[in-house]
Amino acid sequence: MQARTTVRVHGDSEHLASRKTVLVTGGAGFLGSHLCERLIADGHDVICLDNFFTGAKQNIDHLLAHPRFEMMRHDITFPLYVEVDEIYNLACPASPIHYQHDPVQTTKTSVHGAINMLGLAKRLKCRIFQASTSEVYGDPSIHPQTEDYWGNVNPIGPRSCYDEGKRCAETLFFDYYRQHRLEIKVARIFNTYGPRMHPNDGRVVSNFIVQALRGAPITIYGDGSQTRSFCYVDDLIEGFVRLMNSPAEVTGPINLGNPGEFTIRELAELTIEMVGSKSKLTFEALPQDDPKQRRPDISRAEAQLGWRPTIPLREGLQRTIAYFDRFLSGRAGT
Ligand code: NAD
Ligand code: UDP
Repeated sequence: MQARTTVRVHGDSEHLASRKTVLVTGGAGFLGSHLCERLIADGHDVICLDNFFTGAKQNIDHLLAHPRFEMMRHDITFPLYVEVDEIYNLACPASPIHYQHDPVQTTKTSVHGAINMLGLAKRLKCRIFQASTSEVYGDPSIHPQTEDYWGNVNPIGPRSCYDEGKRCAETLFFDYYRQHRLEIKVARIFNTYGPRMHPNDGRVVSNFIVQALRGAPITIYGDGSQTRSFCYVDDLIEGFVRLMNSPAEVTGPINLGNPGEFTIRELAELTIEMVGSKSKLTFEALPQDDPKQRRPDISRAEAQLGWRPTIPLREGLQRTIAYFDRFLSGRAGT
């Protein structure tokens, strides 16, 4: 393991941080790119690993020249040998369209990928964070969802490669914790949105904003009465960092998400209003196994991490709309 040194960060700030070398798998994706940015701002060396299945070089372009940032093209379903102090394991396609495109690879990424990253953490005796998901609760019959709810998951449906892959990854994390005393941090992430979401990955926030900006019909699946809770990316990344830096006994699983709950129809209407769009609503078939309701109980995150989201939906949407407006007009940047 690399020696930790103490450095000054944040320019003239008196704030001191312990400088670490941190591996972020899936670092060129939506969440990964924001996490890499945050870790660099906190004074760490970052190795960003990605196979670019759904990630984009554009997401990390602005980091490439940074002396503490390094990009590595690699697929986590294959073993990896690097020397780092901490691992954030985010690599995995996250939108239903992308994870269902090659479902066998999705399961391999979740399961073989977890085994490879846990093996690496075991050799290095380092902390490892897992980006798990509210999908482990499936179509939940408990509402809001608490971490002790075991879920309602179809093991053989089109979403199962992702849901069961992530559930198996959690099992592996807790077995490495019990069997090898590994320091694990498992976050169950609820729907998160913000700049650098993939414009074509079919997720609801990006779909609606892009449709509204183009004046195209807003595609509501089903009657739009299903609910989701939307967390702005900056809030989530703060939760990641707090969880990683929490005492060793805090293993998770821990829900990270915004407890504000909205129907999909409400989200569509709000997006149209905020964009000032003339788009009309159009109703399409509800995909199989689409969860009817989802909202995190974040009491554990509040108690153990002192964390709760601070950015309301309107404010987060405003920033995300501004990003997609620039993106669609070719003025993307970051
Ligand atoms: P994303 O698709 O933007 O990012 C995933 C990244 O992983 C991409 O850059 C992709 O190229 C990379 N990747 C995929 N398979 C890989 C492999 N085998 N080897 C190396 N890299 C690989 O998605 P995201 O929204 O940033 O999600 C990041 C993580 O957070 C995922 O694990 C996802 O399951 C989890 N998550 C996200 C949300 C959300 O709302 N965004 C919700 C729950 C869980
Ligand atoms: N959805 C929708 N129209 C779209 C995209 C998604 O009505 O254009 C719905 C989808 O059926 C689901 C919700 O929005 O009920 C959230 O979908 P998303 O794919 O963003 O995430 P997940 O289903 O994984 O929570």
